[in-house]
Amino acid sequence: MKIDRMTVHQVSVPVVSVRSHGVGDVSSAMGNVVLRLETSDGLVGWGEASPWPVFTGTAEGNAAALHVHLRPLVMGADPRRVGEILHQADRVLVGHPEAKAALEMALMDIVGKAAGLPVAELLGGRCRDSVPLSVSLADPDWGADRALLDRITADGVRIVKLKTGFADHAFDLMRLEALRADGPDDLRVRVDYNQGMAPHEALRRLRDVEAFAPDFIEQPVPAKDWAAMAHLRAAIDTPLMADESVFTVADAVRAVEHRIADLFSIKVMKCGGMRNGQHIAAVAQAGGLACYGGDMFETGLAHLAGLHMVAATPNISLGCEFYQATYYVAKDLLAEPFPIQDGRVMVPTAPGLGLDVDTAALDGMTVSRQG
Ligand SMILES: [Mg+2]
Repeated sequence: MKIDRMTVHQVSVPVVSVRSHGVGDVSSAMGNVVLRLETSDGLVGWGEASPWPVFTGTAEGNAAALHVHLRPLVMGADPRRVGEILHQADRVLVGHPEAKAALEMALMDIVGKAAGLPVAELLGGRCRDSVPLSVSLADPDWGADRALLDRITADGVRIVKLKTGFADHAFDLMRLEALRADGPDDLRVRVDYNQGMAPHEALRRLRDVEAFAPDFIEQPVPAKDWAAMAHLRAAIDTPLMADESVFTVADAVRAVEHRIADLFSIKVMKCGGMRNGQHIAAVAQAGGLACYGGDMFETGLAHLAGLHMVAATPNISLGCEFYQATYYVAKDLLAEPFPIQDGRVMVPTAPGLGLDVDTAALDGMTVSRQG
């Protein structure tokens, strides 16, 4: 089995609302990259790179990473040699974890289809068949998020993550009060600052936030300020999650050593794929930390990779946030609805990633195509 065709689509995916975060905003569309690999015997594998310029990288950079720099490793290769191909990818190209995640995803999709096994089984076998879904509330217009809260809770969602730190502290407290007053009694609330506070203002504000009993508080201060993260972790009672501070397996090792967090958010787009995400989860487990299935601005295609990773990794035990395909994009890239039922994401059982791409939708969102 050899790969004999590789197509890189740079896409613009329209979205239905504004999202604000401590680190920046997304307003009208997500700029992503879709990778299609085809083997000599006609199997097709799909991958997605979902960068965000203020967080990880750019669509242009990841499209070039795949088309120019990684193509020579892929063309003619046996897709079953996933580990070797990704190892070589790290040797020829620094960074670009989203492109490497897309490549791993597409290879594993093919391997799963060839073997008749879902990707979760290739990653060690599923330990869960569904994953609790968290939906992020990040609209600067609270009225819009308040309507979304009604919609998602009617759908059975019982976890929300409030994005804080992009306006003022009073706005954050007002929304936390409203969530506790208006949301279902069993609503679980999480808080994510996306680095939105200066260290000197963080501790007093987090003590206010703790009064609303969030499950955890995520990345309150800038990614590089590990001393502030460690100080806050020791000072508050609520578990502290590292997201932007931990991209790689090496970051995770150091983060455990420096005790900067109680929890990690693992994203295939930060660490360069599902297998690296499992390695981070293993480091966390050894250090006594639990993990969460985070994501970037993804379509259902990239969500599937995260979902198979979470399904196959016991220590990613805090649920997932694979909500964009259902509640954020105007049109998803998958041919079927992303599988959410009663507030849980159902892990596909078909071979490979388990759901097909809507090629007409892909063509409609493609802004440039190579190969
Ligand atoms: Mg986060």
